[in-house]
Parts: sequence; C-alpha cells; structure tokens
Amino acid sequence: MLTSSGVPIGEIPAALDGVHSKWQAKGLKSLEIVPLGNHHFTVEASVNPTAKANAKGTVDVDVPPENLSMDQVTATSFASSTTAASGVFSPDSEPELTDIMTSGAGQKELKLSDSQEGAHAEEQVANRFQGSWNVCNNEIANALSAKQKNSKKPWFKNVRMMINVSKSSCINCASYIVRFTRKLREKSSSVHVGMKFASLYRGAQEVPKSNMDEFGDLVRLFVEKGRLKGTNRLGRLWGPSSIFGNKRERITEVSGTKDAGKAGLAILRDAGIAVDVMAQDDVKGKGNAEKRERLKLRNEKLKTALDEVEQKLKVKKG
Ligand SMILES: [Zn+2]
Repeated sequence: MLTSSGVPIGEIPAALDGVHSKWQAKGLKSLEIVPLGNHHFTVEASVNPTAKANAKGTVDVDVPPENLSMDQVTATSFASSTTAASGVFSPDSEPELTDIMTSGAGQKELKLSDSQEGAHAEEQVANRFQGSWNVCNNEIANALSAKQKNSKKPWFKNVRMMINVSKSSCINCASYIVRFTRKLREKSSSVHVGMKFASLYRGAQEVPKSNMDEFGDLVRLFVEKGRLKGTNRLGRLWGPSSIFGNKRERITEVSGTKDAGKAGLAILRDAGIAVDVMAQDDVKGKGNAEKRERLKLRNEKLKTALDEVEQKLKVKKG
C-alpha cells in the first residue's frame, strides 16, 4: 500500500517514511499530510506528473510507465524489428511498474509467466500484470466469505493500466490486451486502460483462429480479403496460456501492410482502450535532428491511421 486510508496521528512519521522510501526513486516531488477528521490523516504524494487523493483518503498516484528511449522509438532496419514496451498497472492504489521489455525473448530468458519464445514486448508487459492480477484476486477470494464472493459487487474501485510501446500493437497483442481489459472490468467499478505508440505496426502476422473468430470483422474492415490467407498451419496463442497449455490453433496469414496495423488499433479502440501518440516529450533523450525528424514522421503516420480508424468505427457504429 502507498498509505493506509487515514492513519492515526501517532503513525504519521512511519506513514511518511513508507511513502517516501517507496516513491523517492520514482520522482517524488512532495508529501502532504491531509487531515481527514477524527484525528486521522492521509499522506498525499506528488509524483511526476500528478497525484490525486480520492474521497476516502487513500492516495491514487498517477505514475506513468517508464519512458522508452529516443533510440528505441527511432530504430531502423534490423534493430526496428525489436519492439520495446513498458507499463504501469494499479489495481486501486498499488502501482506496479515494469522495466522496459523488448520483443523476441529467447527460450532461456523465459519465466513461467511468459509466453513462448518470440513474445511481443507489450505481450510480456501484459503477462506480468495478468500474473499480479491473478495473485491479487486469489488473495482477496481467500479472504472473503462464500456470500461475499458470490456478490456482484466489484472488488476494486479503480484499476488503471498504461502501456508504452515503440510500435502500435499487432492484431494478436491488441486482442490479448482487450481480453485482459474485460477481466479487469468484471472486477472493478472503474477501469482505465491506455496505450501510447510511437509508430504504426506494419509487420506480417499469423492470427490464430480464436482471434479471427472474435475480432475478424474489425480486421476485415481494414484489411482487403486478398491479404488474408487461411491456412492449415498451426500457430501459437498470445499470453501465458501459450506456454502452459501448449495450445496451438490454425492461423490466418495477414500480409504486412499499414492496414494490418490499423486493424490492431481498431481492436483496441473498439473496446474503449485509449490510444495516444508517443511524441518527443514522451521519450528519454533528445536524439539528433535526424532522429527527431524520423519520430515526427512516424508520429504523423500513426496519427493519420488513428484518425482513419476512429472515422470508420464511428461509421460502423452508426
Ligand atoms: Zn504484437
């Protein structure tokens, strides 16, 4: 916990110490003691950029994910096939930050919670958060009575997940993140999921059957029929299940074009996930003029694609 919801006055020094040590390294700007009445106080932390205290007195710290570097978002040729991602996940007021993950982890680096070899960067971030979410929910479930467990009342007030990725999500990462977001919505009264991308994904993709069954309409809204090829080949699923269940499904090959990138954006936006452009101010390091120009161009292309996606989704919804 960042702080208890209203600490007795004698415990304020300890509460301050706790909040201070936890947030110091993450850009803590100031601590403020806010009286709650009844000799109780809460500690409000200001962490870059903002911190908010909610009505109950617990502290909801709006911590951003770690910024990717200018080099990571402007990589070209071979290096650009490595995607980087970082994230922050806060079920109520306990933010968890990931380090920057890169795509294509080799088999040796994989942990139990990871997907199989070749996991995409944001997939690894989501795996990590899904693991924590499961642990957290199991703990709560164990502490509840059977009656409480069956109640429809959400266990969480406010869940927030922000993920930064150097390239926009492919169809499979987008599908996986949408499914995880649904799980969050089942258990929380308010859920905010937002993603920031520096550029538009254009790689070829192998989309498993379950994703085509569920999100195929959105894919076909952007990708011409000729660029979707059904096959008898089996491919992996996204998320931790691909290593545990060793599940494989028949795949559809999607040619690498900007339209395939738009399909990924559409899957996220259609599910109410916020998508923003990761501009120069959002990355570490200024780079040189050439890199800044490259990032600007990538941002513009992403923005154009995003506008088109918004427009088509609006038309589709009437
Ligand atoms: Zn992906």
